[in-house]
Amino acid sequence: MTRPFDHGSAEGAAHPELVTLGTPMLRQPTSRVEDCASAGELCEKLVYLLAEINGAGLAANQIGVSLRVMVFQVRKTELHPDRPETPLYVMINPDILERSEATIDGWEGCFSVPGYLGLVPRAASLACRYETPDGVEHVEKFEGYAARVIQHECDHLDGKVYLDQMKSMLDFTTQANFKQFLIPKKPEAEEPELEN
Ligand code: ZN
Repeated sequence: MTRPFDHGSAEGAAHPELVTLGTPMLRQPTSRVEDCASAGELCEKLVYLLAEINGAGLAANQIGVSLRVMVFQVRKTELHPDRPETPLYVMINPDILERSEATIDGWEGCFSVPGYLGLVPRAASLACRYETPDGVEHVEKFEGYAARVIQHECDHLDGKVYLDQMKSMLDFTTQANFKQFLIPKKPEAEEPELEN
């Protein structure tokens, strides 16, 4: 997921190491990792790139590696000073075990669809099973923004993008037009949540 106001993808430029929509690999389910230790270098590269693009999440097939690995870290931004931060998560073979029936609509961007935003309903909370590079299995519950990021990244690993989850393409916009037309103008109004 992108942070559209914080980096160059707001202008629609793709990062040279990231693959964009139309690349066949982005639409193919990734393969599970058999040996977590073998994914160490891939995990390090994803962590490095996530910081470089100032993103909230990144899936391996977004950098051209068709393996079920993703990283995410929610950090506060200038526009979202109150957003709950998370530690850095490195997830190998993540699976969403349960999703809440309750959903939340939120605006998402994607480094593989640079320059755009769409309104996407996501489960408000979920339980996720994943492995870490040391081979340990974890089951953990997430909610809100972190749950949204996990759903976005697990979709990538299943060959899906956020556009597939949108209810209406009327809620699809360029980032520039989002800033111009869709951010509430009243000072007291709360900004729409932006995620990836
Ligand atoms: Zn994405």
